[in-house]
Amino acid sequence: MTGLVIAVDGPAAAGKGTLARRLAAHFALPYLDTGLLYRAVGRRVLDAAGDPRDAAVAQAAARALQAADLARGDLRGPPADDAASMVAAHPGVRHALVDFQRRFAAEAGAVLDGRDIGTVIFPDARAKLYITASAEARAYRRWLEVHARDPSATLTAVAAEMAARDARDAGRDAAPMKPAADAIVLDTTTLDADAAFARAMALVSGLIG
Ligand code: C5P
Repeated sequence: MTGLVIAVDGPAAAGKGTLARRLAAHFALPYLDTGLLYRAVGRRVLDAAGDPRDAAVAQAAARALQAADLARGDLRGPPADDAASMVAAHPGVRHALVDFQRRFAAEAGAVLDGRDIGTVIFPDARAKLYITASAEARAYRRWLEVHARDPSATLTAVAAEMAARDARDAGRDAAPMKPAADAIVLDTTTLDADAAFARAMALVSGLIG
């Protein structure tokens, strides 16, 4: 691997997607939202009326994944969130997606956001950030997004769904969500997107010299 790899991990709605996109633009690197891979696998399983908790079904969907699946318009929202997190717990699913992620960064480097980029996919990444925020701040941010599409969504329901997903992502045996030992943790609870980007830039600049 020759290019710069920046790993951006963390729980849902911590601001890692926005931040990773801005870092990618700044360093002129390709950007990959790895959550889309798990979302697309979950969506394939749901489309076939399968159970995302069924390891064999989920692994078959992961192996059949096509680039076009990542461009689908229905990869966000509570059913896709849940299905993604369920399929992501299967080791066979994760294994099927490793090569794609590594190849993505192989030529020019990349910024990737996810849950296990710094721990499993690119343990040698030069810069690893773990973006987090309080559960309340993250639930509120996600509720603003969900509510714009579905005015009946309540903050309580969104917070509960997010807490369940975080617990599943952090508690699974296969590549659980956690900061890499050498990741820098950035808490965005009191930061807006510009302030988070400024802090991240200072951290990454320090890491890559
Ligand atoms: O990042 P996003 O919220 O879109 O991810 C959706 C789900 O995909 C997560 O809740 C997690 O279960 C799974 N995921 C993962 N590893 C990644 C990225 C996402 O397990 N690198």
